[in-house]
Amino acid sequence: MPTPASDDAFAEVKAKVDLVKIVQEHLRLTRRNKDFVGLCPFHEEDTPSFTVHPQTQTWYCFGCQRHGDVFTFVELIEKTDKRGALQTLAERAGVELKKLSPEQKERSDSRKRLLTMLKLSAQFYEYVLWSSPAGEPGRRLLESRMVSEETARRFQLGYAPAGRGFAEYLRAKKKSLQDAQEAGLMRRDGTDFFAERLVIPIRDERSQPLAFTAITVRADEQRKYINSP
Ligand code: ZN
Repeated sequence: MPTPASDDAFAEVKAKVDLVKIVQEHLRLTRRNKDFVGLCPFHEEDTPSFTVHPQTQTWYCFGCQRHGDVFTFVELIEKTDKRGALQTLAERAGVELKKLSPEQKERSDSRKRLLTMLKLSAQFYEYVLWSSPAGEPGRRLLESRMVSEETARRFQLGYAPAGRGFAEYLRAKKKSLQDAQEAGLMRRDGTDFFAERLVIPIRDERSQPLAFTAITVRADEQRKYINSP
């Protein structure tokens, strides 16, 4: 449900953009009396049935019966949602969108902190794997599985050493250990959750690590694989 604040934002943006101009960026419109018509961008057609009414700032297609206002049009043409359309049009109109509510902001900040922590840890583990003597067990495991350095680097594999290496790294970078604990990377005593494991980041399409799966390098370890929460 839209909050009153976002209703305001929709009204403010709508008052500042012209539907005709927005539509014209995507298709040719010709004037017909008080309206404009063009070939509908949402269905195949040879004769124009897409109609824009400047006075009401609405549009209607007689062919596919799609219709709406400037937000609906941007939503459909950019394949986004209502919020995305608002953002696009607000930028064009020079309207600054209202800040998030304190709870929304808290949630978004906390997510950002966790993602930063996951990214940092992936960098740390990768560094240990290739550039530190402590990474030796990880390198040996890769070798035994015939995984080349090139492949390992492509997937940003890393090695979590025994002890408190990651905690020390975070302290040196003046980062919060609590964030690392919340991200499930570190135990309360500062030891690494993945200690003595080869670490494989699970990443999104922008290569941002979202979680880890980790394989032990110890023969006597019962739990071969563990995952971060
Ligand atoms: Zn249509």
